[in-house]
Amino acid sequence: MNVPHSIARRCLAAALAIAVAACGGDGSNQPGPPASLEVVAGSGQSAVVTNFVSIAPSVRVRDANGNALSGIVVRYSVQSGGGTVTGDSARTDVNGVAPSGSWRLGGTLGAQTLRAAAQGASVTITATATSGPPAVVVPVSPQSSAALVAASVTPVPSVEIRDGFGNALAGVPVTFTVTLGGGTVTGGSATTDGGGRAAVGSWTLGSAAGLNRIIARAGGASLIFEAQALGAAPVAASAESPTAQNGFLRYMVPKLPRIKLVDGFGNPSPGIPVTFAIVGGGDAVLTGTNTVTDAVGIATPSDWRMGVAATSTVEATIGGGFGLPKVTFTATGTTSPFLIDIRFVTPMIPDLRDAFAEAGLRWMGIITADIPDVPVTIPSSACGFVATGPVNETVDDLVIFAQVTFIDGPGNVLGRAGPCVRRTTTRLTTIGGMEFEEADLINLKVSNRLIPVITHEIGHLLGIIKDTWVDRGLISDAGSADPIFTGTEANAIWPSFTISHIGRLVPLHNADGAGSADSHWRESVLENELMTPFVEASGVFMPLSRLTIASLADLGYMVDMNKADPFLTNISFPTDMSIRYPGFLLNEQLYPAKYEVDPVGRLKPIN
Ligand SMILES: [Zn+2]
Repeated sequence: MNVPHSIARRCLAAALAIAVAACGGDGSNQPGPPASLEVVAGSGQSAVVTNFVSIAPSVRVRDANGNALSGIVVRYSVQSGGGTVTGDSARTDVNGVAPSGSWRLGGTLGAQTLRAAAQGASVTITATATSGPPAVVVPVSPQSSAALVAASVTPVPSVEIRDGFGNALAGVPVTFTVTLGGGTVTGGSATTDGGGRAAVGSWTLGSAAGLNRIIARAGGASLIFEAQALGAAPVAASAESPTAQNGFLRYMVPKLPRIKLVDGFGNPSPGIPVTFAIVGGGDAVLTGTNTVTDAVGIATPSDWRMGVAATSTVEATIGGGFGLPKVTFTATGTTSPFLIDIRFVTPMIPDLRDAFAEAGLRWMGIITADIPDVPVTIPSSACGFVATGPVNETVDDLVIFAQVTFIDGPGNVLGRAGPCVRRTTTRLTTIGGMEFEEADLINLKVSNRLIPVITHEIGHLLGIIKDTWVDRGLISDAGSADPIFTGTEANAIWPSFTISHIGRLVPLHNADGAGSADSHWRESVLENELMTPFVEASGVFMPLSRLTIASLADLGYMVDMNKADPFLTNISFPTDMSIRYPGFLLNEQLYPAKYEVDPVGRLKPIN
C-alpha cells in the first residue's frame, strides 16, 4: 500500500475500529474513489488445464487513503489463458471485499490471468495451468515399416505423449514391449523429454518372416508399431519338383520345374529373379522363362513340353548376384501310343497346369493304340465356346483346347466341354474344347478334387457323351426315365461289379438336365465312379473303373483294362441326392461336335 506514513498512522486506529469507514486525507472521514484492489483469496493457485481453480478469486477495494470501500462494483474478466469466469460482476461487502463466482482455466499450459477492476483501479490474479494425465500416444516415427528378418528397424519407433488437451507431457514413463513376431527391444523403459517425446533404444525383428509388432504404453494410453520382417538374402536353392522325370514325347513334362529359395533362417525369399532355360539342344519348348520367386519363395516357368528329342534339360539360374548354383531338371520321354495334346488358351497357374498334365496322362495310360491321324483345318472361332486358334495340321490323336475363365463365379456352372471336330465313321474326337470356371477350379484344388474333375471332362471329349453314343448306336432310350448304354464290352464288365441293380444295363443318368442325363453313368447306381455326374465329397475316391474303360473299347479304342482303379462299392452314400453334399452336381454344359472330318481332311458341318 502506497500511503504516506503520517496519514496511515493517523487512520490506523479508525480503520481497525470501523472497517467500513473511510479515512479521508483531509480528516473528513469521507471515502474517496477506488484507488487500489488487493487479492484477498485465490492468488497463486494451480489446476489442471480446463479445470476450476479450487478457490474462487476475491479482491478488496480501497480508496487512496486505504479505506476499504463497500458497495463498489468489481468486474472480473479473463485476461489470458482462455478460461472462463462466473460471477464476473460483484459488489463489495462491508469489508470492501467482492468475490468472483468461479474461475475455470483455459487449455493453455502455464500462467493464466484474471483481471479484477473497479472504476479506474485493477489487479491481476495469476494461476498456473498444469497438464493432465497421459491420454494420447502420438507416433513420431512411421507406424509401419519393414526390415529384413533379425535386423533392426530404422528409424526406431518414437512417440510423443500428450494429455487429453494436446499438451506434450515431459517426464512421463513410456514402455515399449514386443507383442508379435518374437523380436527384441533395448531401452524398453523410457521417459519423455522436455518436448514430451521418447523413443525405444532399438527394435530387432524376429528371425521368421512375417509381421512383427511392439506396443508403446504411457499411463492408460498406447500405440502399436508394426514391421514386416522380410526374408533375407537367399542362401540356398532347392528343387521343389523332381529333378529327373519320365514323360511322353510331344506332351507336357508331368511336373513343372519348381525352385525354392530360402534365407539363412529357412524363410522363403520372395521377389528374387529366376531364369529358366532349356540347355543342351533338343526341341522341347519352355514358356514363361523369366520369373521371380513368389511369396513362398518359389519360381516356376509356365510350361515345359517335350518335342521328339528323347531328353530335355532345363536349367534354373538364380539372379540377384547371390552366387547360388544353378539347379538342373531333366525329362526323359518315350512315345505314347495315344497322344492327347492339351493346349492352353489362357495362362494356367502351375498347379492347374500340372493337374491338366496328370489328367491327360491318366487316359494316355489307358488307351494303348494310335487312332488314325487326320488333317484338320478350321478357323479360330469354329468351336464356339472355346477359342481354338486357327488349326491347320494333322491331328494325332486328340487335340484339346483348354481355358480357365470367369463363367459365373463360384458354384453353378463349373465348366463347358465338348468335341468340336470328330472323325467320320468312328465319330472319335480330333479337336475338342474345355472351359472351366476359375473360382470352381481353385476350390476343387483346395479340396483335392481337381484332377478327377479334369479327368472326367477329358473323358467326355474322348467320346463318353450322349451325341457320340447315339450316333454310334451305343445308347437306348436317351431322354427317357431309363436310358441305358448298350455297348457289349461295358455290359460284359457289369457282372464283375458287386452292384445290386434291378433293371436294364448299363444304367445311364436320367435326371439333372441336358448336361447330366444320358452322358454319365447313373449316379444312384454307380455312386462314386468318375463318370457319374456328381463330384463326391472331399476325400471320397472317384475311381475310373473298368466300366468306363470298357465303354472306350465299345467306341473302338484299344484299352488296357488293368489300368482301371479298383471300384469299391461298399462306400455308404446318402440315397437322397439332394443331401449328398459336400459332393455336388458337376453342372457341366456339354456341347455336341460341330464338324466331322474325313481321312483326307474334308470338313463337313454336322446338321
Ligand atoms: Zn460330365
